[in-house]
Amino acid sequence: MQIPLLDLKAQYKTCKDEIDRAIADVCDSQAFALGPAVTAFEENIAAYCRCKYAIGVSSGTDALLIGLMALEIAPGDEVITTPFTFFATAGCIARLGAKPVFADVDPSSYNIDPVAIERKITEKTKTILPVHLFGQVAQMKAITEIADRHNLNIVEDAAQAIGASRDGTKAGGFGDFGCFSFYPTKNLNAFGDGGLVVTNSEDLAEKLKILRNHGQNPIYFYRIIGGNFRLDSIQAAVLDVKLKYLDDWNEKRRQNAAIYDEILADSPITPPKIEQGNISIYHQYTITAPDRDNLKDFLTENGIGSAIFYPKPLHLQNCFKDLGYNEGDFPVAEKLCSEVLSLPVYPELTAEQAEHVAKTVLKFYEQN
Ligand SMILES: *Cc1c(COP(=O)(O)O)cnc(C)c1O
Repeated sequence: MQIPLLDLKAQYKTCKDEIDRAIADVCDSQAFALGPAVTAFEENIAAYCRCKYAIGVSSGTDALLIGLMALEIAPGDEVITTPFTFFATAGCIARLGAKPVFADVDPSSYNIDPVAIERKITEKTKTILPVHLFGQVAQMKAITEIADRHNLNIVEDAAQAIGASRDGTKAGGFGDFGCFSFYPTKNLNAFGDGGLVVTNSEDLAEKLKILRNHGQNPIYFYRIIGGNFRLDSIQAAVLDVKLKYLDDWNEKRRQNAAIYDEILADSPITPPKIEQGNISIYHQYTITAPDRDNLKDFLTENGIGSAIFYPKPLHLQNCFKDLGYNEGDFPVAEKLCSEVLSLPVYPELTAEQAEHVAKTVLKFYEQN
């Protein structure tokens, strides 16, 4: 049995006619840039995230960048974030000339540890940028309390967490901004790149709309320096179709995760821990595994896809060497990088396939 880490062709089959029609409608309209398809999608996704405003942008990376631009993050500022995340989280901070300041993560949720955040606050700190990694919302109550106490902004990197919630609040609805990615591997995915920012602030929403279109308002009069961060209408049309299926798809991921949880409960691996009050969307089902690299090879030999998110923490990446971090600075993140492995959990994965993956993991430890 061949089981990939993700099967986008299987997903396309489930909604092909609807998507093809939506794309054809945009082609007929020839309104490709910020047309009615974008506005319609923004309204639907704002309601879905239970936020007042949604602003479609060109990618998840640009969602983070434009959010930080709207908060006027600049050289001399510090933004606290996790070293155990995708590059773009910290890349956007550095691209604005500000300093990414890392704080270690919690070993069981993989998300930034609020206690570690508080220790990193200085008079230069402007913003906290938590990531809801692998589909589970970070400890936002504690993080919000810290932000309030120190008068800091919060930008949520919710690229992996659309539809996830904590204590009834959806990802993206805790901070000044919630930033989403629609990269093809994400739970809600476009036919190319796309992203979105949600906010409950009318002023910030207005600023984002101006920033994503070069800073112009009215046309050809530039109030501030923005860029081309527009979401394509074709992508919005595809996403609007898929949004209707998202809760269903996320539920199927949870069902597959439950199969893994049960079969792997007494095995040498540690399953992902979902904290009380959280509903995860299992963007990834990420275990920590002894002898991880050999387990990964064994799965590959057996036709099962898996991946290491992430093999190297950001504080040890060459591009951030000027920040002056060393090995040992964030022991939890460093240890996770040597132990984590993500297993296939996509919605179209059948229960039988999930059982087969879990039993193959068990087989590896029985033989070794
Ligand atoms: C995917 C991702 C991004 C970037 O999104 P793109 O759409 O690929 O630019 C940022 N942060 C995290 C945590 C991500 O997973």
